[in-house]
Amino acid sequence: MSLKVKVDALIIGAGIMGASCAFQLSKRGLRVAVLEAQISPAMGSTVRSTAGVRVQFTEEVNIRLSWESIQEYQHFQDLYGEDAGYRPIGYLLLVPPERLVVHMASVRLQQYYFCLPEASKRKGGRDLPGNPSDESPPGRKFLAGGNF
Ligand SMILES: Cc1cc2nc3c(=O)[nH]c(=O)nc-3n(C[C@H](O)[C@H](O)[C@H](O)COP(=O)(O)OP(=O)(O)OC[C@H]3O[C@@H](n4cnc5c(N)ncnc54)[C@H](O)[C@@H]3O)c2cc1C
Repeated sequence: MSLKVKVDALIIGAGIMGASCAFQLSKRGLRVAVLEAQISPAMGSTVRSTAGVRVQFTEEVNIRLSWESIQEYQHFQDLYGEDAGYRPIGYLLLVPPERLVVHMASVRLQQYYFCLPEASKRKGGRDLPGNPSDESPPGRKFLAGGNF
């Protein structure tokens, strides 16, 4: 196959990553082409996704990427004039006791990257991670910032 147009960026794969990169780059004025092996976009992992977006990850790059995405989904209608179907219903994570220390370390990381801004205010600050008065039973944590 020969590509006869000149582009600034050539993206391989029209899943959510390729498509969103193409969108963001073209918004910044770059000429972008996307090559997709399948007959239509989003036929790989993207079509199988449950469509949840959450910040409950253990690595900075994933936390920040998700947080920025959530900002876009939250304001999708205003930004793009379409309803993305975003529903901020949260995630309930069940954490086995032996994973709790590691889990709480990742929660602190999420809070550090300002991902759970309302956390200490909800339910009087009780059921929430990282709050000094957190009295919820080990292993049951409600975390703001996870949505569908
Ligand atoms: C069952 C399931 C549920 C999930 N639920 C969630 C969820 O709730 N929330 C969440 O955040 N994540 C979820 N995920 C993960 C999420 O779906 C993936 O992380 C995400 O879709 C990956 O997107 P991608 O664009 O990187 O890859 P893909 O969507 O796989 O896109 C890659 C594209 O590249 C194309 N391609 C590959 N090689 C070439 C080539 N050489 N030339 C041209 N095209 C090529 C493929 O055809 C494909 O279209 C889930 C995954 C699965 C499987």
